[in-house]
Amino acid sequence: MAEEIVIVTGGSRGIGASVCRKLAAGGRTVLVNFARNSDAADELVDEIRAAGGTAVAVQGDVSDEADVLNLFAEADNLGTLTGLVNNAGILDVAQRVDEMSLDRMTRIFSVNVIGSFLCAREAVRRMSTRLGGRGGSIVNLGSASSKLGSPGQYVDYAAAKGAIDTMTVGLALEVAQEGIRVNAVRPGIIDTEIHASGGIPDRVARLQSRLPMKRAGSADEVADAILWLMSDQASYTTGAILDVSGGRAILP
Ligand code: NAP
Repeated sequence: MAEEIVIVTGGSRGIGASVCRKLAAGGRTVLVNFARNSDAADELVDEIRAAGGTAVAVQGDVSDEADVLNLFAEADNLGTLTGLVNNAGILDVAQRVDEMSLDRMTRIFSVNVIGSFLCAREAVRRMSTRLGGRGGSIVNLGSASSKLGSPGQYVDYAAAKGAIDTMTVGLALEVAQEGIRVNAVRPGIIDTEIHASGGIPDRVARLQSRLPMKRAGSADEVADAILWLMSDQASYTTGAILDVSGGRAILP
């Protein structure tokens, strides 16, 4: 039987890396996508292989259509695509909307929204039973910020994640009869390097005491929710948006 492939965008670091480790430990062949940091991707692939798993690193910017087509072509070469984790995401430094440049807004929406759409499109083209595929599962990474709005910090990012919530519901219904489940997780404050890339490396420490559980979450805790949504145990779950936020922003 051909290998079953799962693509994890932004799979080389943070939440994505944890998802890759867990998928590979469960016997899936994992395609670890990354944008620039090839050392991190190579290290993760070496680690997974040393543990007996199968993983391949593929560079590609999810907001670039040619890169996305190449990413999925690499998956086609390895076997049958059965899953996509739309995890690649970026934020920028804290700014008010009246300070934001067009360049920043375009980048935030291109990577977080268009990137997820392009990858979802390619996954559906391969997995939809209507199009000759065998079905599969897509999990999108939203954010608690879609409900909080992130004023004075990242309203652009929060709005992009709002689009992910809506896309999750719409696409789930669009392909519900085609063997594909589409779900999302909505993390709260998770201890990864994304906060440093937003210019606030100590954001987790600063916010901790204000969080309902008085601590941030770990990448593994988010990955476990993603793994469940990807699994057959979630066979009747589609269009769901699961808050993995330790209680942060659980109210509408
Ligand atoms: P992270 O630690 O900053 O890692 C980001 C990953 O995405 C890296 O592998 C990076 O690759 C990759 N990436 C960045 N831009 C990309 C692009 N244009 N194309 C392909 N890959 C790209 O992030 P994280 O904290 O794990 O976040 C993962 C997801 O969870 C994101 O969607 C984020 O918005 C969401 N989330 C995170 C939190 C949190 O508190 N951490 C909260 C809510 C939601 P390189 O190493 O090559 O740059």
